[in-house]
Amino acid sequence: MLRIGLTGGIGSGKTTVAKFFETLGIPVYYADDNTKFLMNNNEELKAAIIHHFGDAVYKNGELDRKYLASIVFSNKEKLELLNSLTHPITIRDAEDWMSRQTAPYAIKEAALLFESGAADQLDFVIGVYAPQHIRVKRVMKRDNLSVDEIMKRISRQIDEEMKMKLCNFVITNNDLQLIIPQVLELHTKFLEYN
Ligand code: ATP
Repeated sequence: MLRIGLTGGIGSGKTTVAKFFETLGIPVYYADDNTKFLMNNNEELKAAIIHHFGDAVYKNGELDRKYLASIVFSNKEKLELLNSLTHPITIRDAEDWMSRQTAPYAIKEAALLFESGAADQLDFVIGVYAPQHIRVKRVMKRDNLSVDEIMKRISRQIDEEMKMKLCNFVITNNDLQLIIPQVLELHTKFLEYN
């Protein structure tokens, strides 16, 4: 079974594209959602987070995401430390999940596929590309955030053009090109590999 990565910057349309693959019967592992789950349910990860960030990060056993975000999003080293704790466990969890899939191929959707080293475990990576001004407009609408807040998030991710160069395939989601034909073309290609 082929293991496919799906990545792109904030607001590029990763989730939107992933949902189209799901409608074709392709299973998708959403790294962000699973990381949130693991931070609340994986005892090894919980202990490591408490060790480095203190007891206050969990309230009544539940991760206080706002509090943790207030620590890591203003401090690059602390964000890197948190990622160094979560990434290996999410990568392992995604590998276990992949090994249980029976579809012709399965997809792992993650914003930090290259940064985390997760791309090394995958056969191909699809990048979802949208120019920055469109990504900002979409995220402003979706999350009700200011341009400044979105730009801060963008500045923490590797450059979008550089990221796309690392991908084997690129889906352009720029409000001009249709997504579905691009998804279908890749779907056909991946089925032919089996
Ligand atoms: P994040 O990294 O922030 O989770 P993402 O890359 O998964 O973002 P999506 O959540 O898929 O991006 O898309 C961001 C927003 O833009 C969503 O509200 C989505 O509905 C919208 N969007 C994505 N693609 C399009 C499109 N082609 N046309 C209109 N709206 C779109």
